[in-house]
Amino acid sequence: MKSKFRVVIIGGGLSGLSAAHTLLDRGCRDFVLLERNAVPGGRVRTVEKDGFRLDLGFQVGLSSYPAFRRILPLRLLEPRFFGAGALVEEQPGEIRCLAHPLRHPSKISNGIFSKLPLADRARLVKQAVECIFRDDQSLLEPTGQTALTWLKQKGFTDAMIDSFFRPFFGGVFLDNELETDASLLRYYLKKFIIGRAFVPRGGMGEMSQRLADEIPIGKIRYRTEVGTITHTDDGVLISLEEGGERITAGKVIIATDPGALAKLSGWGDPPEFRPTKVIYYRSDERLYQGPWIVLPSKGNGIVQHFVQMTNVDPSLAPKGQSLLSATVLDDRGLDDEMLAAEVKKDIARLFPEAETLLETLCIIPVPAALPVQDPEAISGYRQHTFGEGIFPAGDLVSNASLQNALQSGRDAALKVLDRY
Ligand SMILES: Cc1cc2nc3c(=O)[nH]c(=O)nc-3n(C[C@H](O)[C@H](O)[C@H](O)COP(=O)(O)OP(=O)(O)OC[C@H]3O[C@@H](n4cnc5c(N)ncnc54)[C@H](O)[C@@H]3O)c2cc1C
Repeated sequence: MKSKFRVVIIGGGLSGLSAAHTLLDRGCRDFVLLERNAVPGGRVRTVEKDGFRLDLGFQVGLSSYPAFRRILPLRLLEPRFFGAGALVEEQPGEIRCLAHPLRHPSKISNGIFSKLPLADRARLVKQAVECIFRDDQSLLEPTGQTALTWLKQKGFTDAMIDSFFRPFFGGVFLDNELETDASLLRYYLKKFIIGRAFVPRGGMGEMSQRLADEIPIGKIRYRTEVGTITHTDDGVLISLEEGGERITAGKVIIATDPGALAKLSGWGDPPEFRPTKVIYYRSDERLYQGPWIVLPSKGNGIVQHFVQMTNVDPSLAPKGQSLLSATVLDDRGLDDEMLAAEVKKDIARLFPEAETLLETLCIIPVPAALPVQDPEAISGYRQHTFGEGIFPAGDLVSNASLQNALQSGRDAALKVLDRY
């Protein structure tokens, strides 16, 4: 087994796979990617159960991410689009489809007759327009302010925050308190307005699989966990966790999750993470029509949002069956059975048929889904510098997103090749 490479990539999630692709694109074949798991994808994976295809946590791609033009072209993913908008619980038990007026003109009257305060809707349009005309980089500059403070400063009422911003952006950030830096709210506001949310046909894991399929056999070593990295006169010495094997690299791209990045690079304490759980239900009939995500108002309910996934991509379930995914941020310590029952009760408040139709398929916990991205944490991430020959990729480079994973992997590879 070769033990010296020009470049070693640690981690085979989207950022590591994107780095490997870029090296190959630029003619560099003297590299290896080391991945702890037996499969590629990291946090972007899809598993199969009883003929259903289940993502490890609810997530979506956005067609407005530049990486889906430059790095992983959208057409390769056969995107299945969500409706641009959501079914919003405006009043207890009452939902209305609020949709992007230009993408769904037939739903304009819903917006006009919406019970959300008119002044809030006008504020939303104003802020959205301001964000659309700013470039991504400037929107992503940390503001030092939480999303909630920013919304209040812009004049949004509690009704608007609880019926729309908390369920929607709380779900995006996995942070119901909206303590995440306001820069991310502005960035996503722009991305959701100018683009559309989608899943690749067959599930989110197809993104990782498409990239991995194009990397020659032997360039990725699975079930290979890196234990430590140290500098030597020769380059960087990589010691594997098991078997005592050592690999020398001219340069290293650390494309792991932020916890492993902190450990391997000697950064110190790993960042805190936000957890989530997804509860999957099967049914013989669909609960509602259309590719819409449902946003229950943030009251006493436990469910953050839910979506009939087979309305978006029928290939996710065996023929004639439906798949519903429901996301929970705080499981309140309930065991799986109680959690699935509570979530079903929440869904039935809006769609009473849920009680009889939905059958629990499985619950997937994601204990370390996203790093905390509040103002203090974000500014800490940006200040860290890495040793000679070490290049980071992934969440901590800019923000925890598919766009950043794909782009930071590519940027790290270009820096390694001195072509950045
Ligand atoms: C539930 C959830 C919802 C999300 N929703 C969205 C969304 O809607 N839109 C969006 O844009 N983003 C979303 N994200 C964020 C996005 O998925 C991540 O930011 C992105 O996938 C990170 O990719 P990565 O390659 O940097 O890290 P990871 O996917 O974590 O990959 C890191 C890889 O490194 C490997 N590794 C770790 N340590 C070692 C080691 N010591 N040796 C070898 N290998 C190691 C791991 O096994 C893993 O495969 C979501 C994430 C989650 C979990």
